[in-house]
Amino acid sequence: PSEYRGEKVVVLGLARSGVAAAKFFHEMGADVTVNDRKTRETSPEADELEALGISVVCGGHPPELVGEDTALIVKNPGIPYGAPPVVQAAERGIEVVTEVEVAYHICAAPMIGITGSNGKTTTTTLIGLMLEAGKLNPIVAGNIGRALTEAAAEAKPSDWMVVELSSFQLKGTKEFRPKIACLLNLYETHLDYHGSMEDYVASKAKLFANQKQDDVAVLNADDEVCRKLAGEVSSEVLLFSRQRELDKGVYLSGDGVLTYRDAEGGTYPILPAKELGIRGSHNIENALAASAVALSAGVPVEAIADVLRTFRGVEHRLEFVGEFGGVAYYNDSKATNPAATTKTVESFEQKVILIAGGLDRGSDYKEMLPLLASRVKAVVTLGETREKINRVAREAGLAAVETVDTANSTEAIGEAVHAASKLAGEGDIVLLSPACASWDMFASYEERGRMFKESVHNL
Ligand code: ADP
Repeated sequence: PSEYRGEKVVVLGLARSGVAAAKFFHEMGADVTVNDRKTRETSPEADELEALGISVVCGGHPPELVGEDTALIVKNPGIPYGAPPVVQAAERGIEVVTEVEVAYHICAAPMIGITGSNGKTTTTTLIGLMLEAGKLNPIVAGNIGRALTEAAAEAKPSDWMVVELSSFQLKGTKEFRPKIACLLNLYETHLDYHGSMEDYVASKAKLFANQKQDDVAVLNADDEVCRKLAGEVSSEVLLFSRQRELDKGVYLSGDGVLTYRDAEGGTYPILPAKELGIRGSHNIENALAASAVALSAGVPVEAIADVLRTFRGVEHRLEFVGEFGGVAYYNDSKATNPAATTKTVESFEQKVILIAGGLDRGSDYKEMLPLLASRVKAVVTLGETREKINRVAREAGLAAVETVDTANSTEAIGEAVHAASKLAGEGDIVLLSPACASWDMFASYEERGRMFKESVHNL
């Protein structure tokens, strides 16, 4: 990046990652402009950047932003490739990268990249804890943890940079080469952004694109796309499987023990699955994946087992809220697609009373029909997708289908909790697992989860 000294760098997106990237290039001596569509009033970071001598342009993407002399565009992963400045840059042959690419070039520590449709945060958190337990100095950064560019600039060769990556972030990489790369699974989600499953798979596959023989690819042997990738990557493959024992890899044994088998056939039991601190088959998969990554980084089996036994999960993911009137309440607000909700519901032995619904992304929720028919006792729906989910619930033969019609977020979540509590009897489970993103009514899934917890405590 020192090659950008004196050059014009445009950072698109004034979010946390954009701020870190802008400061980084500014310190390198580049002439930095940060641009965002949102207004000046809603951009509190702008003052701080301007005080440093960085230009800030808010309230739109003016055409003169990207000029003949622009050397590099650093794009926030959320900004579409069709946005005017990105199109302009492409026309002029200007390089467009995301923060991950920038971080890779400045990071002295080896990087671990984790991606997948579901389970990223849980697995990334587990990996951070495991490397910590193994005294390997992990720095967790990116979507969770510290701002990536900032953390990458400070990392030492003896650290490990652990990064959760979305397909949006991976799409904007070029030379990014993680020492250990992990792909958890691929579900047909996020298609509204990527346009097609091929594009989605291709951006996930970029995680492995620059890997060499001495790098490691951790892949899910139970996932078809992952299995195919295992035959294509240049790195050493370490598979994980919940469904079958592997010749080499990390798997759940026939008698229910998380187990590592090395290339020589040496077999090392890690922990019986029933001793895991997190529940559900999807969390067994996350535990297997995290163990495979940690083993590759050199964490001893005992340290891995300790973390798996004590880790209780991340907030808003199958989080136990409390028991009120003999009914147990769980917050799974992070389940923003049907595949995630399915996994969560299936991790309970009994049928649940499900609160679902949210932003409408065009899915018809038909895929939830078997789940609703077999594992759900009653549903309470809210948000834009409420009618769609109601339709599927009725088709599934559910007797109790209740709907919350208000668009006021606090009222809606309060009414939903109230309705669910009325439907619940002693020993029942009420689960918020929306199968939809939150932006129809809430600022974020975190806000939705927090409001849910408050409503439960107000019962
Ligand atoms: P992400 O960061 O990819 O969104 P999280 O770890 O935050 O994933 O989990 C979000 C939700 O996805 C969980 O509440 C659960 O319902 C579901 N989930 C978690 N891990 C998996 C997995 N391995 N496979 C399928 N679904 C999962």
